Amino acid sequence: MQKKLFTELGLSPELLKAVARVGYEEASPIQSEAIPVLLGGADVFGQSQTGSGKTAAFALPAIELVDPTIRATQVLILCPTRELAVQVAEEVSKLAFFKRGVRELPIYGGQSYERQFQGLQRGAHIVIGTPGRVMDHMDRGTLKLDQIKMVILDEADRMLDMGFIDDIKNVLSKMPPQRQTVMFSATLPGPIQQLVKSFTRNPVNIRIQDQALTVPNIEQVYYELDRRAKVEVLCRLIDIEDIKFGLIFCATKMMVDELTEHLTARGYAADKLHGDMSQAMRERVMAKFRKRGLEFLVATDVAARGVDVDDIEVVFNYDLPQDSEDYVHRIGRTGRAGRSGKAITFVAGREIWKLQNIMRATKGKIHRARVPSASEVEEKRTSAFYDLIRDTLEGGEYRRHDELIDQLLDQGHTPTDIASALIHLAGGEKPRPAGERTPEPVAITIPRREERPERRQEFAPEPNFDTFKKKKRATEAAPVDSGDLRERIGKARPKRTREEEFEPSKVSHEPGMVRLSMNTGRDHEITPGDVVGVIAGLAKIPKECIGAIRLLARTTYVDVAREHAPHVLEKLNGIKFKGRNLFMSLAE
Ligand code: AMP
Repeated sequence: MQKKLFTELGLSPELLKAVARVGYEEASPIQSEAIPVLLGGADVFGQSQTGSGKTAAFALPAIELVDPTIRATQVLILCPTRELAVQVAEEVSKLAFFKRGVRELPIYGGQSYERQFQGLQRGAHIVIGTPGRVMDHMDRGTLKLDQIKMVILDEADRMLDMGFIDDIKNVLSKMPPQRQTVMFSATLPGPIQQLVKSFTRNPVNIRIQDQALTVPNIEQVYYELDRRAKVEVLCRLIDIEDIKFGLIFCATKMMVDELTEHLTARGYAADKLHGDMSQAMRERVMAKFRKRGLEFLVATDVAARGVDVDDIEVVFNYDLPQDSEDYVHRIGRTGRAGRSGKAITFVAGREIWKLQNIMRATKGKIHRARVPSASEVEEKRTSAFYDLIRDTLEGGEYRRHDELIDQLLDQGHTPTDIASALIHLAGGEKPRPAGERTPEPVAITIPRREERPERRQEFAPEPNFDTFKKKKRATEAAPVDSGDLRERIGKARPKRTREEEFEPSKVSHEPGMVRLSMNTGRDHEITPGDVVGVIAGLAKIPKECIGAIRLLARTTYVDVAREHAPHVLEKLNGIKFKGRNLFMSLAE
């Protein structure tokens, strides 16, 4: 079935604005089909699954129908459970955001009558309730149905299963005869057919069927998780599977923006693609992704339609797609031309139903996987570090430091102790906050920043690992001053912090950048994401103009493009940042 743009469906500007605000880019098949019919005043019987977008399909025309100047209930939506009633009420509230004066009210068993009386008395235009409680209010005279223009049965077959059929018939028989009737049901058992026959007038039947789909032959897994854990789990999977080139799908533009922020703040080279970006911007991002200037592209379905890139290792369904067709389109971006590929899908809460529909349509080859624990991620990191050391030893391409080591041996340290201390300094054993980008095992071969422009290489919270990397990079460029290291280790006093020992340079090494310092740091629970957020947010400079960030205990160094520095200083100096007065100046 064809999908349409919301602007093609005959909705008012207020509702189009609300849809854009919620972040839906195009109407789902059920919405494309049902909205114009309902706006035209016809009754509808829709056969469509949860997850197809059916709530907005009936909620948008319902909101459109309400006259907010009349203080009476004009739309009644019956739902099988209190959870669904609340969910539908939330969707109605979001979609009615720009319709002044339209009020919705969920009423369900278990909630105090008092609160519901008050809500009804205030004049709820759209009442969303479970059949039992709706009947209660009708019997008490607190819910009046004489001005109802539309009645909607959501998930009618579930209400039937739950034994509500008599209540439903009772409610429907008390409605004004000229009202519009809408029924949604995933299946069509006899009693529901009967209901449709008795209580609708010439209903338009809308059926969204999952088509038989050809699924690419790639590994497909899903993870069941809490919605709030998605970012964390995504980062764990990227780290543990060492994914370097992936496409991540989100449901809305807002989610795309948010996730891109999270990923860049955690040090991944990620950028976004969605419908609010100009064509030129989109092309720029695409070109960068194609050239591997990005590790991850975060996109909505619509924006990603033009993404035609080979070698994508993994497609993440960070949010579930609208339907099975979208699922197949999405995952078809990986495993091209006979290469291996993987599709990873996140499923939160009730969405498991939606996934089951997808599995049915795709002949169920999506396997459940277990979310890796933080300690497994850590283990993987340690083993990557072990591999790096072993490869370096076996490759033999490192400069020897016999003199320094002899000196340490002479002082009575064992070789194992010396090696352990060095590993410690290199950050190979320090626990890393879960989800923080695992440093790639590239300390020695790390490409220069020009080749990896997006990765903030100094993001890792452990200054020791960064310093190690930096030192190694310096090692490549210039002869090693082993005396310097010897001096540091030899003279190290127990009380001295590593930060004092490895005070970072106060001058930016990036062409065109200057280094600024801030009077806040890790001790104040500042993260690199906070730093990028406050600078990009308040000074309104593009994130690309913010470079390396180095967090010390009470100071943060951040590189910004030279031309923006005065503006950043002007905008940020003196503001409250994480509860402290921010003082910012040129570091050099
Ligand atoms: P429903 O089938 O109504 O339970 O909707 C399932 C999910 O899809 C909900 O989280 C909605 O917010 C979301 N949704 C509904 N319509 C759209 C759309 N046109 N584009 C993207 N997401 C949508």
